[in-house]
Amino acid sequence: MARVARFERDGSVHTAINLGEGWCELQGDLFGDYRTGPAITVPDSPRLAPVEPPVIFCIGLNYRAHAAEMGLAEPEHPVMFIKAIESLTGHGYPIESPTQAGTEKLDYECELAIVIGKQCKNVSAANALDYVAGYTCANDVSARDWQIDWGGGQFSRGKSFDSFCPLGPELVMSDEIADPNNLRISTRVNGETVQDSSTADMIFNVPTLIEFLSASTTLPAGSVILTGTPSGVGTGRTPPLWLKPGDSVTIEIGSIGSLTNPVVAEAVG
Ligand code: ZN
Repeated sequence: MARVARFERDGSVHTAINLGEGWCELQGDLFGDYRTGPAITVPDSPRLAPVEPPVIFCIGLNYRAHAAEMGLAEPEHPVMFIKAIESLTGHGYPIESPTQAGTEKLDYECELAIVIGKQCKNVSAANALDYVAGYTCANDVSARDWQIDWGGGQFSRGKSFDSFCPLGPELVMSDEIADPNNLRISTRVNGETVQDSSTADMIFNVPTLIEFLSASTTLPAGSVILTGTPSGVGTGRTPPLWLKPGDSVTIEIGSIGSLTNPVVAEAVG
């Protein structure tokens, strides 16, 4: 049983681990050799993303009702795209609505994020969970105009602007999550529930996604996989619900926790 959090204090980044008896400084490499150091106080907010991933893989259209609300067919194979590392942010930090690039369709997506704990390649679904360090909450923030209309048929542009990948508030190690495909997952915008589902409704479950993504592809330790979002996104609603500066978005997943971010306008020069 362990949880890992990262935060900034007085200009330094701290990593903390809670083995059930309070937070201690984590010394060394979470994915290699580490020790627990002295006790440390951890702020509730803001928190940095709990890991610094080398890559952020994402799966689109992985819940049936979401594929339908996007007007897209249920996929026969997982739909994979990548979010830029620079899009990463943490709990309590703002989602910046792009001013320079511009968007009028800023949207939220609650997603279970997998964190790979051991480098792997060509893993079978039967063994896939052996390579998982743990799980956290993700918001796959999306500018739908860039994703669909202006992105040249590619998802990544509309999902990679700075601050478009909030992760957190902490990494919950996999021994605390008996079944990653049996977790309630929801989004609240300004306190109103807009997505409410279960990770049991994924078309391709967590082991299947790891088998798929690791085929002929190295997944380094620390890799993050966003597993898709259920229905209820802003673009699927009538009328659509777009995020705007002043809003607050909360992603909550089972016992993992709640990831909250305010929305602000990107400040430009
Ligand atoms: Zn997504």
